Amino acid sequence: ADRRIAFLGLGNMGRPMAVNLVRAGASVTGFDPVPAAVARAESASVGTAASAADAARGADIVITMLPSGRHVLDCYRDILPAVGPGTLFIDCSTIDVAAARAAAALVIEADCRAIDAPVSGGVVGAEAATLTFMVGGDPASVASAEPLLRALGARAIHCGASGAGQAAKICNNMILGISMIAVSEAFALGQRLGLTDQALFDVASTASGQCWALTTNCPVPGPVPTSPANRAYRGGFASGLMLKDLRLARSAADAEGVRTVLGRTAAEIYADFVRVDGPGRDFSAVITAIRDGAVG
Ligand code: NAD
Repeated sequence: ADRRIAFLGLGNMGRPMAVNLVRAGASVTGFDPVPAAVARAESASVGTAASAADAARGADIVITMLPSGRHVLDCYRDILPAVGPGTLFIDCSTIDVAAARAAAALVIEADCRAIDAPVSGGVVGAEAATLTFMVGGDPASVASAEPLLRALGARAIHCGASGAGQAAKICNNMILGISMIAVSEAFALGQRLGLTDQALFDVASTASGQCWALTTNCPVPGPVPTSPANRAYRGGFASGLMLKDLRLARSAADAEGVRTVLGRTAAEIYADFVRVDGPGRDFSAVITAIRDGAVG
């Protein structure tokens, strides 16, 4: 708690995370190029600086929560001259594995330490400090980040060397995107065959079709009252972010020469869906387009 933390990227995820660090008693200086994001963070009592480099100067730990790998690499190049040796960089953004490794290499070259620590749990998890971190980096750097990750989340799983956190995140979300489409196709077919949603749910949720997309985030209203389908697919995990993660999985698979046929198809279905429905609704809303034959 006595370590000085720079928090770069005060968007939907970064702001509540920075607020939780302040509440935990940490000394936090934030930065975001969007003035409205800065204003919202300040009104939640997060101190801010005029630039990323100003926020990072003298920090012991630099946390980034940015849109893409390009943003992280640009940001690291910008701030590395302002930090001292040994500074710990924790990137919580979801970015491609290659950029994560390149970012860590830049940091290590500057005699600093780097881990990638992308999250699952969404804005709700960021606010409630119940995020799951998937962590890549050397064991000593990961160990020194652990108290801070514990203040922001419920779990941190060390997955391997630099980039391993990002790899675990995109592989998990590839399972999730594919399984949501599978569950949605099953409900669409079941409805045509005269099955009630409840009957299909009662069978599949206690049989071999059981999965998170069915039993927690059920894409039809009724069987799981807390799923986004019961509130017009508002809140939850936005389709645009699912598409982003499926594209990251796709480009990693292409780079490695792995034929992820279902992962690629899932990316195409979500691209179609986001074109017709926009990026904002929970990703389980894809069932509405599957039912209408509007995707795939
Ligand atoms: P967001 O767009 O709300 O926030 C990103 C912020 O970064 C923006 O405010 C932007 O202005 C700022 N930024 C850009 N360049 C910067 C720089 N050089 N220095 C400081 N700030 C800079 O996005 P978000 O929803 O908060 O997501 C952030 C990351 O977390 C993404 O990689 C996303 O994929 C990942 N993620 C999001 C969710 C979610 O549910 N929103 C869940 C898991 C992971």
